[in-house]
Amino acid sequence: MKKKNTVLISGVFSILILIFFQIYLVRGIWRQKDEMFILRYTLRSQEALNFISRRMQDDGFDTVRYILGRYSEKANQELHEIRDRDQLELKKKEVLEFFTQVLNREQDLSGLLSAYFERRGFENKFKYRIIINSLQMISQDTIVVYQSPEFINIINQEKAGRQLLNEISQSKILVNRFRMEDNNYRLLFEYYIDFTGEQKHLLKETAVSFALSILSILVVIIIYVVTYRNLREEQRLSDLKTDFINNMTHELKTPLSTITVAGRTLEIDQIRKNEEKIIETARLIGKQSIHLNQLINMILEISMWERTQFEIEKKEVDIGEVMDDIIESFKTGCGNCVSIVKIYSFKGKKAYLDVVYFTTLMNNLLSNAVKYSDKDPEIRIEGHSDDHSITISVTDNGIGISRNDQKHVFDKFYRAQTGNIHKFKGLGLGLYYVRKIAEAHGGDVTVSSRQGKGSTFTVILPQ
Ligand code: ADP
Repeated sequence: MKKKNTVLISGVFSILILIFFQIYLVRGIWRQKDEMFILRYTLRSQEALNFISRRMQDDGFDTVRYILGRYSEKANQELHEIRDRDQLELKKKEVLEFFTQVLNREQDLSGLLSAYFERRGFENKFKYRIIINSLQMISQDTIVVYQSPEFINIINQEKAGRQLLNEISQSKILVNRFRMEDNNYRLLFEYYIDFTGEQKHLLKETAVSFALSILSILVVIIIYVVTYRNLREEQRLSDLKTDFINNMTHELKTPLSTITVAGRTLEIDQIRKNEEKIIETARLIGKQSIHLNQLINMILEISMWERTQFEIEKKEVDIGEVMDDIIESFKTGCGNCVSIVKIYSFKGKKAYLDVVYFTTLMNNLLSNAVKYSDKDPEIRIEGHSDDHSITISVTDNGIGISRNDQKHVFDKFYRAQTGNIHKFKGLGLGLYYVRKIAEAHGGDVTVSSRQGKGSTFTVILPQ
């Protein structure tokens, strides 16, 4: 038990460490790829922008400068004439919209950038965006039309104009920041690469490492589960074997000690003179020898089944008659120790089975029904048949079997109470025998039970 727990805890612990390590590794790869990816694109985009700016002479904003210059002269006048606050806000909005539109229309470098990237064999699936950070209209006094909150700190910085700021955000990276001004306005705006679809791209690049990590975790978990199950099974079998040896020793010892005591009794003069006593003792010895013989035969037979195919000799019998005979001789054998209710009428129904083995099967079920009972045993035997099968169930009012034990009662050597001290004697072979016989007939046996209420064993034999 202790060994099993140690294996379980250390196994789960190692798997957890492995999972954490793999997550750490994959996250590292992801982060590295992400940074490399962004760096690559920032540098390329900057390079492209410089190239385009050079080609557009000066800095390529002449048209924009011209349009905005003309517009802002008029807009400034209007802004200063408005007295109403709400109207002023509306006008500011209109001015901002105009600036945005002109910038996006006249300075939309997406096409040029894409072409530049394509020429260099660089993948270009991203959108370029212009974002206005600050717009002020200047005349007698300055009117702030728009100021993005994040930008307030940067606006007065000396190098804010054309300096590349390696800002890395989740979905967009800054390529360049521009300042544009004349007598009527002062404008600050930024070029961004929009990386909204970047995650997909990264996922593709890291997919192999990701899949390999998951695979390695899965393989380790599978190996661990299989090893652990094998270990548990081995432990269970070894426990069962130890139990079996203890029980068998006990089972064999009982008739043997009876025979030994009986033998000693025969040595006593007084007994030898009493003919009745001699016969009684001889019968006892005979009975115990038969029991001993049966036990040894059962063990030998079972060990033989392990090595060879279980062979039965089926013949046609009247199933009703066979059942009646079995029940009668069982009752006589145990000195009418039990009341048995028969709920079947096979009415001359013919069945194909090996009567000897079938009798053993029924006797095992009946003797268990008596043995595992804590009150006066009552057994109900039900049976019915159709063209394809015969179904017989044996129900008792005994101690019942727990859910967990129900899964194992047909296993070799299995006994519901483990350890060598048993209230009920046995070797854990009776039901194993029942299942083997049912299977040899091409059938099956099942159990349903409630602890403290009783059990039902159902045998199905195909015809
Ligand atoms: P044995 O009776 O020799 O222990 P069996 O293979 O006949 O072995 O039964 C296996 C176990 O199933 C028993 O140890 C017992 O706990 C449980 N069992 C079998 N039949 C019954 C029954 N009718 N009622 C309650 N428990 C039963």
